[in-house]
Amino acid sequence: MRPILIAGPCAAESKQQVMETAEQLREELQARDMSIDYFRAGVWKPRSNPDSFAGVGEEALSWLSEVQCRYGFEVCTEVMTPRQVELCAAHGIRAVWVGARTSVNPTEVQQLADALRGTDFTVLVKNPIVPDLKLWAGNIERFQKADVKQVIAIHRGFADSNENVYRNAPCWEIPIDLKVQFPDLPIVCDPSHLCGRTQWIPQISQLALIYGFDGLMLECHCDPQHALSDAAQQLTPQQWAEMVQGLSFKNNVPNRELVIQRALLENVDTQLSELLAKRMQIVDEVARIKKANNLPVVQPQQWQQVRERYLKSGQDKQYQEFIEEFLEILHQNSIKRQQ
Ligand code: PEP
Ligand code: MN
Repeated sequence: MRPILIAGPCAAESKQQVMETAEQLREELQARDMSIDYFRAGVWKPRSNPDSFAGVGEEALSWLSEVQCRYGFEVCTEVMTPRQVELCAAHGIRAVWVGARTSVNPTEVQQLADALRGTDFTVLVKNPIVPDLKLWAGNIERFQKADVKQVIAIHRGFADSNENVYRNAPCWEIPIDLKVQFPDLPIVCDPSHLCGRTQWIPQISQLALIYGFDGLMLECHCDPQHALSDAAQQLTPQQWAEMVQGLSFKNNVPNRELVIQRALLENVDTQLSELLAKRMQIVDEVARIKKANNLPVVQPQQWQQVRERYLKSGQDKQYQEFIEEFLEILHQNSIKRQQ
């Protein structure tokens, strides 16, 4: 069975943008004899900043209905309130997702479950922004208990207070545990919101499929650079199709265990290289401050203290020798650069 594929822009911005994206997607799909399960587009967008584009609202639902008629794609959009569910139903839209911000609030999720009770809607339940498996599982149960036709979980990563390479921390163990609790529930990965930047999307998409996710939700836009939301993480329909076509599905991957571990290593190495680059920028700043204050580049006592703090920071003893060597290389390199 091929994976569930969901593609479309972060937000419906204008009729032209929605139609152009759908048109390009159809061309790419036809050229490759592929299909998608849902065309996605947010109509109401929950944004952190009150001045950010918050979606065009109800008007965009008619554009989405038109996509369904003209291109034969089933459409899905995000709902936060029972009223929005009613509006979707009135426009012939039968698939909705519950976003990561709504997913943190069981009262709102229950109101949505009541609004969708016994309907033929498909409900895609994103993980809450906080890494709380019970909350996510509880939300899924609310829709299952409301007898909606189909429930699908979406893993979009978890907010993390650290500045990370990825926009959201993958915490792979959480969706994997969810699958153990709900073996029949399809779980789809959303690499767009997880990564936040297109550069990591192929790597994370492949990893998700190898892990056994049932599909991928990916943002694609006819003109990502000018997208009104999530510009950095949207692919063009052509990039989307080329990437998806190049992915290997779980059962076609020889040495799956090894491939998973290598992909995890590649993730760590990517994070390490970003961190090292960040470190060098701080080193440059330190050099500037020392110079302005006529301080020497090498201050052995200072380094000794830093080193001791590192070594005491609870690192596993078996790696201590390697960590000491590594710190020494970092220090030497930093001095060279400051000089
Ligand atoms: C989205 O899919 O556009 C969205 C808002 O996602 P999330 O709720 O995962 O942030
Ligand atoms: Mn988005």
